[in-house]
Amino acid sequence: MLAQSDSQFSFVYGPVKSWRYGRSLGIDPIGRVSTCSFDCVYCQLGAIERVTSDRAIFVPTDRILQDLQTYAPWDVDVITLSGSGEPTLALNLGDIITGIGTLTGKPVAVLTNSTLLGDASVRQALASADKVSLKLDAASSDRLRRVNRPAPGIALDEILAAARQFRSDFSGELAIQTMILVPWDEGDRAEYIEQMRVISPDEIQLNTPSRPKPLQHELDARGNHSADDRPYEVRTFRQVSDRVLHEFSEEIRAATGIPVRYPSH
Ligand code: SF4
Repeated sequence: MLAQSDSQFSFVYGPVKSWRYGRSLGIDPIGRVSTCSFDCVYCQLGAIERVTSDRAIFVPTDRILQDLQTYAPWDVDVITLSGSGEPTLALNLGDIITGIGTLTGKPVAVLTNSTLLGDASVRQALASADKVSLKLDAASSDRLRRVNRPAPGIALDEILAAARQFRSDFSGELAIQTMILVPWDEGDRAEYIEQMRVISPDEIQLNTPSRPKPLQHELDARGNHSADDRPYEVRTFRQVSDRVLHEFSEEIRAATGIPVRYPSH
């Protein structure tokens, strides 16, 4: 249900320049209160205000399409669902994806943290997107717990099994997105590579935290904010070097043949 003040609020933002997908218009199916099944230590939204795996309708589909209409003729490469939390928590995800495609004729991408992929209705909704990027930051349950700080009941082996299932359901472009906070040891790299071999995504996107984390939730953080241009307090993270990303990407590519991309800093 929308609050009265949401009449002034837009659930569409950008366009932002995405290193993954080019010029991208952002769709926020979650809204003012950041809501996610993870509370990642590096999250650019700030501390997640509502950590949950419960799905709900946060923003009516009609309202999103109404906001999107004001951006016509949509001079962008892609329209991306991400926003103020985990987009697959939105029960109307499938309707939103279909509605955007019909209204704009543009490719629709979804960035998801993969935690709800075990739900067949989530996989079905995601399958109507053109591009899906699955977050997988951990090759061990311990790293998942420390980096992603999941809601209760989320387990790495179930995420991996569901990702394999989704790979076989989905005919669009599938990427795995992985945030590297510190260089991984050999055991973690080998485990990750084995997982990638089995899931077999079209592309792997390695990243390191380049965006600062606001100390409190900031809607502005949905886009490409930087440490220099924000009017609020942030925490910045040490990044791994381009060399670390390059060497890991070469190792993955040599072992699996899967293309690997990473942003250069
Ligand atoms: S999954 Fe994304 S939105 Fe959720 S806490 Fe992690 S970085 Fe933030």
